[in-house]
Amino acid sequence: SRTPVTVTVTGAAGQIGYALLFRIASGQLLGPDVPVKLNLLEITPALKAAEGTAMELDDCAFPLLSGIDISDDPNVAFAGTNVALLVGARPRTKGMERGDLLEANGGIFKPQGRAINDHAVDDVRVLVVGNPANTNALIAQAAAPDVPAERFTAMTRLDHNRALTQLSKKTGAPVSEIRRLTIWGNHSATQYPDIFHAEVAGKNAAETVNDETWLAEEFIPTVAKRGAAIIEARGASSAASAANAAVDHVHTWVNGTAEGDWTSMAIPSDGSYGVPEGLISSFPVTCRDGRYEIVQGLEINEFSRTRIDASVNELAEEREAVRGLGLL
Ligand code: NDP
Repeated sequence: SRTPVTVTVTGAAGQIGYALLFRIASGQLLGPDVPVKLNLLEITPALKAAEGTAMELDDCAFPLLSGIDISDDPNVAFAGTNVALLVGARPRTKGMERGDLLEANGGIFKPQGRAINDHAVDDVRVLVVGNPANTNALIAQAAAPDVPAERFTAMTRLDHNRALTQLSKKTGAPVSEIRRLTIWGNHSATQYPDIFHAEVAGKNAAETVNDETWLAEEFIPTVAKRGAAIIEARGASSAASAANAAVDHVHTWVNGTAEGDWTSMAIPSDGSYGVPEGLISSFPVTCRDGRYEIVQGLEINEFSRTRIDASVNELAEEREAVRGLGLL
């Protein structure tokens, strides 16, 4: 039988972790024929809760789950890691300034990047979910100089999936008939969901909708503020949908995008579309043979340009802030 793939999940005892681990162990992350070994990383006070989740994983008797290790030491948790899902992060609490948030997360993601550098396998793939995800990914990537930068990614797939459904509701077409939607920029309120290149049932989405007011005043803010709307409704932040998007992100990265379609991933910029090199920004990407590539040659209209630039500028400011803190 195949050697298990080692998947490390940080913040494993959290809400997203709880929704994520069972799906990984059941084979949905990598495929129904790929055995997995789980490494759970938690902060010391949450180790006991992580053990409880591990007991439940045991009780599922997943045929593909070859073992579970739990640790509060990144050097242990990232040993031999093939896929790293960085979920645990310092949440923004009341009265906290952005600089404090970035600094607190630097204290988490810098040592984790270093541990990935020193202990993960050569072809490790990293997905950062914990917010501010793009900049946390940048901090981890900068701390891992021996790992190709392209292996560090951040999640905008939840935004992508949210946009698919909003466009589906507007047009009446099922999500399965929508292709080539793009999330650009930062996973934050400045993100830009772009339907100008999207297709609904084979026709251009923006032309099909033909309603710029809806686009600017409903669609974009609904997608960008969906996280807050979920908190308002559920009394807790989205967890299952975030876990689902993390599964989608890695599954697509490893197994590829469908012919004629693309997805959205935040990845280190190569300068494409005027996004400064090195910023971890969301782009339209195709995946094939375990690698991703930015979709090239899309025409960016004025409406899109302004919004992409605004989100990318926010990322550049975050990079300056973490540089100022000595985290890069
Ligand atoms: P969640 O599991 O709900 O969320 C974890 C992170 O994911 C947060 O940063 C959250 O950001 C982020 N996130 C990204 N996208 C979304 C989305 N669409 N919806 C909701 N969240 C999103 O947090 P919990 O507090 O339940 O659990 C966090 C766990 O991490 C705790 O068990 C804690 O002990 C652990 N932790 C572990 C660390 C480690 O392993 N070294 C370090 C720090 C914490 P946002 O805050 O913006 O919602």
